[in-house]
Amino acid sequence: MSSPTVLAEAARRRTFAVISHPDAGKSTLTEALALHARVISEAGATHGKAGRRATVSDWMEMEKERGISISSTALQFEHRGHVVNLVDTPGHADFSEDTYRVLSAVDFAVMLLDGAKGLEPQTLKLFDVCHRSGIPVITVVNKWDRPGLDPLELLDQIQQRIDIRPTPLTWPIGIAGDFRGVLDRRLGHAVEYERTSGGATIAGETVHSPDDASTVFGDAWEEAVGGHELLAADGADHDPEEFLAGRTTPVLFAAAALNFGVTQLLDVMLELAPAPRPRLDAQGEPRAVDSPFSAFVFKIQAGMNTAHRDHVAFARICSGVFERGEVVQHTQGGRPFATKYAQNLFGRDRETTDLAYPGDVIGLVNASQLGIGDTLYLGPKVEYPPIPQFAPEHFATISARDTSRFKQFRRGIEQLDREGVVQVLRSTLRGDQSPVLAAVGPMQFEVVTDRLQREFNAETRLDFLPYTLARRIQPADRETLAGINGVETFERSDGTALAVFSDRWRLQFVSRQHPDITFESLSADV
Ligand code: GDP
Repeated sequence: MSSPTVLAEAARRRTFAVISHPDAGKSTLTEALALHARVISEAGATHGKAGRRATVSDWMEMEKERGISISSTALQFEHRGHVVNLVDTPGHADFSEDTYRVLSAVDFAVMLLDGAKGLEPQTLKLFDVCHRSGIPVITVVNKWDRPGLDPLELLDQIQQRIDIRPTPLTWPIGIAGDFRGVLDRRLGHAVEYERTSGGATIAGETVHSPDDASTVFGDAWEEAVGGHELLAADGADHDPEEFLAGRTTPVLFAAAALNFGVTQLLDVMLELAPAPRPRLDAQGEPRAVDSPFSAFVFKIQAGMNTAHRDHVAFARICSGVFERGEVVQHTQGGRPFATKYAQNLFGRDRETTDLAYPGDVIGLVNASQLGIGDTLYLGPKVEYPPIPQFAPEHFATISARDTSRFKQFRRGIEQLDREGVVQVLRSTLRGDQSPVLAAVGPMQFEVVTDRLQREFNAETRLDFLPYTLARRIQPADRETLAGINGVETFERSDGTALAVFSDRWRLQFVSRQHPDITFESLSADV
């Protein structure tokens, strides 16, 4: 494949994730985007599902359902000559590492806020992760059809609490709850929205010149212009460089359930958001997008289909072209990997990928030897840096209820560890029979026990441990800390030595007693 083709294919791709605090409207917006890109002809699956709440069991069911249709890991669609890859993030209320892994695989993120609630706990955490990893963020203020906050106040909140400067591209005409259209600050005109029945189809949009807008909207237009002028005076205008560096965030106003503001979001993504850029390898060297094929695994899904025990590894392509059936190299395994069964996930069906380009996500089945963060490549060897592991905050021992199933239990733990479902900690004190699991969010434990039972036929018992903090230490420090009250030490399966504590006080106490030991925060602490 010639390099100009790869460059052109990469340049027309937009790979992103929608992130938000639960309930802000992520599913609704995803559906609205699909509707606008004509992937679906009518919204209805999530639109108008009043009061739906993601709960633990809800999510488990969803994952099980994906055994039949793993539809939503990456939704790919064409729009105005571009290829859009929307990579799904887990929608459940629990905080998990999966979201961060997905963020490592996208070129930008769309942050969805609930216009009435503003910044919520997960909004803050997610903004923080994007900010620190330099991921450009487009902010969408959703549910503007409902009474909400004053838009300027909302912007203030963002700027003050997150230290990212909001630069609105559209400004609402009509207060929250009376959403009539937007002033498009980029194009200098007004867009009037028209409701459709139940928000099932694309909303009607009429473009008005400023003069006409004044007649159509009256005072609401004057107010929008006033807001726009205040922003301009304050310098809150879009700056491409600042946005790409993650220092400013363009803001759009929308009502996803009514499909208001969705056209503008798509336009902004195509026109302003970044295409795949060269990725840095483990040595910090960029690998050009037109270098030979390379990709890294950011998500593993297994046990979706109990009958087939399939392990699908999802990899994001960083460079080159991927052809179905190719045998590629697996950096960590040091062996070739046959991609005969590569799949691209499109809509509700598994579609077979023939060719894929930088920015695309490929699903590789029967990939049990691949782990999270692993690199695949052709041509010159490359290794991408590992995806950071997050500081666990929940700890529990796990053991097989039936000791005669111990072999299956152990195999299952090894598999789930490799997949990155949970971190596995070991110590001679606890022994092999009951390793300690460490998780960012408690729901990870449920996934572990459920999968051990379903896939390995091993019933397990969890015993929660009273720890909430982990710090990296040197392996030799483990002996020094042995037997000290309130601290326990482990070896994580990646070889890292960890000390875990019940709380900050205990950590401070122990570190005062042992000034010679460095208790290092884990790299990806949030
Ligand atoms: P998720 O948890 O972020 O995926 O949120 P959902 O897409 O499931 O939406 C949560 C709730 O908000 C549902 O009841 C939606 O119908 C509702 N919702 C989503 N977008 C809008 C909107 O633009 N306006 C209004 N009024 N409700 C919305």
